[in-house]
Amino acid sequence: MLHGGRRPSHSPAASRPGLGEARTAPRGPTGNLRGVPDRSEEARDLIEFIDESPSPFHAVQAAARRLHDLGFERLDEAANWPPGPGRHVVIRGGSLVAWICDDSRRVEEGFRIIGAHTDSPNLRIKPNPDTGAAGFRQLGVEVYGGALLNSWLDRDLGLSGRVALRDGSGGAHLQLVRVDRPLLRIPQLAIHLDRGVNETGLKLNPQQHLVPVWGVGSTGEGTFQRFLADELGVGPDDILGWELMAHDLCPSALVGVDEELVSAPRIDNLASCYAALRALEDLPPATGAGPVPVICLFDHEEIGSQSARGADSTMLPTVLERICLAAAREREAFHRSLARSMCASVDGAHATHPNYPDRHEPQHQIRVNGGPVLKVNSNVRYATDAAGAATFALACEWAGVPLQRFVTRTDLPCGSTIGPVTAARLGVPTVDVGLPQLAMHSARELCGAADPALLIAALTGFLEVPGP
Ligand code: ZN
Repeated sequence: MLHGGRRPSHSPAASRPGLGEARTAPRGPTGNLRGVPDRSEEARDLIEFIDESPSPFHAVQAAARRLHDLGFERLDEAANWPPGPGRHVVIRGGSLVAWICDDSRRVEEGFRIIGAHTDSPNLRIKPNPDTGAAGFRQLGVEVYGGALLNSWLDRDLGLSGRVALRDGSGGAHLQLVRVDRPLLRIPQLAIHLDRGVNETGLKLNPQQHLVPVWGVGSTGEGTFQRFLADELGVGPDDILGWELMAHDLCPSALVGVDEELVSAPRIDNLASCYAALRALEDLPPATGAGPVPVICLFDHEEIGSQSARGADSTMLPTVLERICLAAAREREAFHRSLARSMCASVDGAHATHPNYPDRHEPQHQIRVNGGPVLKVNSNVRYATDAAGAATFALACEWAGVPLQRFVTRTDLPCGSTIGPVTAARLGVPTVDVGLPQLAMHSARELCGAADPALLIAALTGFLEVPGP
């Protein structure tokens, strides 16, 4: 049964600015020309988070740093977990789960979960990457996820990710790597050599046409490995493996005449990771009541979530069960908790494109800076059902933010998210929501500068409003 739209009694509403009210504020030092209040503080903070996070590993590092500053303690999955209350975080490579359990009785009220993903489509360095042609030194790359291939052309690209290094004891350890110098470039073919390209469209064969150049001259075996070894200050033979990817070096920015838009890479889905983190950070001080707030930021969504650290892994169910066990509850209590839990899967949503309005459902037009988007698909490519929709609508009402509802055109296939897989893994009602954006899966995406603040407010509400 749905609870009414009342503000939950344990939420100190009076202490929160009502975002809805603030919309009529006049232009001031932080307002823009149309009298819309400036909510770009969050957008600027988001930009910082995105630029700190060129790879999923760096996104998790940046998230962990923020959580550490707020007193979250990192737990080792291979160790015994301390009993009793606390704020904790668990990390597996490019995935992270964090929660606040200030009172062990809260596990009896279930979990309120916000999920997002840390990975984005990009180009990744092959194991034996050294190649070349026509006097150029080049690196072989694989396409990761559903990238818009053309968006990687004619950009200055850096490299980031992690490397496995031999250590002194005969084993190996992992180290993050980030090179922000313009190392790679994929030059487009001149129009004089492809006269029809503007009429017939650009066709790219990823094996042939996406090989970045990174120098001039002949390529010797091991050149990339030697470069990497020099960057890390180790010997080439100490490098045992890598997960390295290219990233756009152009800094993210507020753009447009009133700076109402954010131009950045990886908005899908670091904007949701950022909003999830901020929702957890913005929760009012512990009251000892209500479900346990949890955020999970997963790697590998763009390739289907099936991995040891993806949303289709045992990571989240295992962590939730161990939270119950650490709260001195038995396995039965874990299942009782799941039966009282809810999840919001937060991922990019398609704003209506001004140049392609026909690609969008006419009755479900989505605007940037128009508030969070509730995503519905009757074939459950999105996990939203009526109960989940109600909870999220109440959360938006409570936060004073507008809510938009999205469905894809009936004659177009629908994308998906970690929502359905998380719902299936946990058996927990899940709602798919997100921040409206354009150019999804481009190396450079675009969203509204007011939407991050609106999404944070809605998600903070979601952590607190009563569920069905
Ligand atoms: Zn996504």
